[in-house]
Amino acid sequence: MTTLREDLARGLAAREAAGLRRDRRILDSAQGPHPVVDGRELLSFASNDYLGLAADPRLAEAARAALARYGTGAGAAHLLGGHSRVHHELEGALAEHTGRERALLFGSGYQANLGTVTALVARGDLVVQDKLDHASLIDAAQLSGAQHRRYRHGDVEALRDRLREAARRRLVITDGVFSMDGDRAPLTAIAAACADARAVLMVDDAHGYGVLGADGAGSLQDQDLGSAEVPVLMATLGKALGCAGAFVAGDEALIEHLINHARSYVYSTAAPPALAAAALRALQLLREEPERRHRVLELARRFRDAAGSAGLELTASGTPIQAVLLGSVARCTAVSEVLERRGILAPAVRPPTVPEGGARLRISLTAAHSDQDLERLLEALTAAVREVDAA
Ligand SMILES: *Cc1c(COP(=O)(O)O)cnc(C)c1O
Repeated sequence: MTTLREDLARGLAAREAAGLRRDRRILDSAQGPHPVVDGRELLSFASNDYLGLAADPRLAEAARAALARYGTGAGAAHLLGGHSRVHHELEGALAEHTGRERALLFGSGYQANLGTVTALVARGDLVVQDKLDHASLIDAAQLSGAQHRRYRHGDVEALRDRLREAARRRLVITDGVFSMDGDRAPLTAIAAACADARAVLMVDDAHGYGVLGADGAGSLQDQDLGSAEVPVLMATLGKALGCAGAFVAGDEALIEHLINHARSYVYSTAAPPALAAAALRALQLLREEPERRHRVLELARRFRDAAGSAGLELTASGTPIQAVLLGSVARCTAVSEVLERRGILAPAVRPPTVPEGGARLRISLTAAHSDQDLERLLEALTAAVREVDAA
């Protein structure tokens, strides 16, 4: 009989041999374009801090003021006395920003998706989702016990086909912006398919919120869709807003239902009030400094133009997430390693996070990157691909 330790070590060794073992780096600085990683300053394209707010001193100041007033821990779940005034104000501000009646905070996006989907569907219901939806949405669908169908990425005809299946309630779920490809879901067409089939649409806008739309309210604002078309909107506070946590926004009935039934909400301690204060400040900056959004989208355009001209294969992304498709794990890992030797962090994303043969560098641009940062990346990237392919 083998021990657990031996079993696990064997599994890890197999992953290592396939070049798929994951490990962590240690940051000794704030998040930003030039973090200190494992003791060395790197030029990083690895964060989702799209607006460069994670290390903004104004957020830290808001958190500090709230720490002085509320202390560190919320001390309890929202329903059991942990729901502070500043949590409540943040929910109000998020509802207003997204043009919805109410919003509800969750500890993380993962929790928001698990709690929301399992509160809305169960055995006898149907969940239909894009093949490339975030892992938390796939886990949520499975945990719900509903029938679970996936459709080819972005393929609205395939979605319509899945929606021929009858069920008590049918919930369609898609990312607004896909986290590994950076492309946007065809939300207008998806919403029309849902309306025709009388299915409920939920959008996870973790990567669109704060970046897209006239006021930064995300993919739905960008495509002019409201509560009627997309009753369930989820977005996170840990990416463009530079904080942590997530929220679901919708009408009164949806939010009251979640307060009563979303288990990851009911049975989890509220996030620190200071974090809510920082997010509230971030939301204000989002509105006062639209130039951050314009800057990051402009950098993404420039990256695409230059990388495309240099013959690199990119996904069809108009967002700050730019994926350089490199095919095999070996080629992708090698390019990422060459870049890192030159002081540039551009993580290789490998199966099972992406499909076999779809290994890529995932480059995240942020408003805090300078023109020189972008030029350094482009130069090093083209040189690294050439070097790896010549070897
Ligand atoms: C990051 C992400 C999540 C998870 O959010 P966390 O707050 O990090 O738990 C959910 N959905 C998508 C699409 C994401 O990119």
